[in-house]
Amino acid sequence: MALYVMKFGGSSVGDTERMQRVARRVAEKQDEGHQVIVVVSAMGDTTDDLIDQAKLLSPEPPTREMDMLMTTGEQISIALLSIAIHQLGKKATSFTGWQAGFRTEAVHGKARIIDIQPSRVLEALKEGNIVVVAGFQGMTDDGEITTFGRGGSDTTAVALAAATSADVCEIYTDVDGIYSTDPRIVKNARKLNEISYDEMLELANLGAAVLHPRAVEYAKHNQVRLVVRSSFNHNEGTVVKEDAHMEQGVVVSGIAYDKNVARISIVGVEHVPGVLAKVFGSLAEAKIDVDIIVQSGDQEDKADFSFTVALSDRENALKVIEGLSEEVPFREVTSEDGLVKVSIVGAGMVSHPGVAAQMFDVISKQGVNIEMVSTSEIKVSCVIAGGKLNEVVQALHTAYGLDTDNQAFVGGPKDRR
Ligand code: ADP
Ligand code: ASP
Ligand code: MG
Repeated sequence: MALYVMKFGGSSVGDTERMQRVARRVAEKQDEGHQVIVVVSAMGDTTDDLIDQAKLLSPEPPTREMDMLMTTGEQISIALLSIAIHQLGKKATSFTGWQAGFRTEAVHGKARIIDIQPSRVLEALKEGNIVVVAGFQGMTDDGEITTFGRGGSDTTAVALAAATSADVCEIYTDVDGIYSTDPRIVKNARKLNEISYDEMLELANLGAAVLHPRAVEYAKHNQVRLVVRSSFNHNEGTVVKEDAHMEQGVVVSGIAYDKNVARISIVGVEHVPGVLAKVFGSLAEAKIDVDIIVQSGDQEDKADFSFTVALSDRENALKVIEGLSEEVPFREVTSEDGLVKVSIVGAGMVSHPGVAAQMFDVISKQGVNIEMVSTSEIKVSCVIAGGKLNEVVQALHTAYGLDTDNQAFVGGPKDRR
């Protein structure tokens, strides 16, 4: 008997029929003699729809109320899935994130998990239940409801697998596994049999929606056996593990993109020591992650800075900067959206000079300007205008030899994110 954590994303529980399919799949697992914890997301586009409704009432809804609102989506799913499992003659109990013991820091919209006390989950398992847990939610010590950020149900699943010493954590989604790039953009993307935690962490951080970055962090830290596979078939998925066997001689193993990018520029900042520390220290205090930072237009005693943040952090970041205008005098602060970040990732890159130059060349051949660049030993990222994203990703995929003859399988409908 093994303990399985099986997580199903929004498109896998998008309607009643899919919910029943999930119920059958987890019941089968129990019939095989295993214990099962199921983590579910909100149905289909529910989270997007809830956000849209709030935005109709206020352009900037309070983050606390957004967490109150968004967590209802997952609560609908857990109750319905438990009902569907009961209908199959099996015992099932659903728990919200806080009932399952998720304690988080007090940050709305992107809280980190502090601790998990899964005693009720373990108790219910012992009593023969299939335990159904709501993804992406927890509670602070003060009893406030929090969420883990978009896509955070993956993190619920992996964290629960670690806390219950589960044998495996399976992430069921609408594609067959992890591919060399998003198979919805590149039809002949390559399915990977395995990938290392580090490469997957890089891809996830750079926007590959297939796994939430913190889920990969958790899996690596706790050595959770993590598998990504389709909820629409029984094909073998992709195993994420410590030392994955990647193909020999492959320099670039994956391509990611991120549409969730805003650029903020501060123009005419006084060029004195401590300015950068003040600006980025204040952004960090406001829990705003800054990505690529570029200093430009250095004239005499003034400098210009540009940096990128998540689109959802744009308004907050602008407020923080405007609040600094006394301490850090500047001429103007502007922001821009419609940008995307395209990244190539590969552990083999470090020993191959010219990989970045080739990327710049491929992008320029698509007639696209590169706005910002950042590199590390295993990745190169370029910020570009979003208009030709698909063409650029496809061209890079071909240029780095990642195309296959196979058509990538895509099972579910495209969600709107
Ligand atoms: P779920 O609702 O199951 O959590 P997501 O939409 O969050 O599903 O993640 C699955 C999607 O991730 C796929 O439909 C695919 O479009 C996208 N994706 C992006 N990059 C990759 C990749 N490298 N491999 C597989 N899927 C990817
Ligand atoms: N429902 C949340 C979202 O859409 C969490 C998740 O699906 O992982 O982002
Ligand atoms: Mg997801």
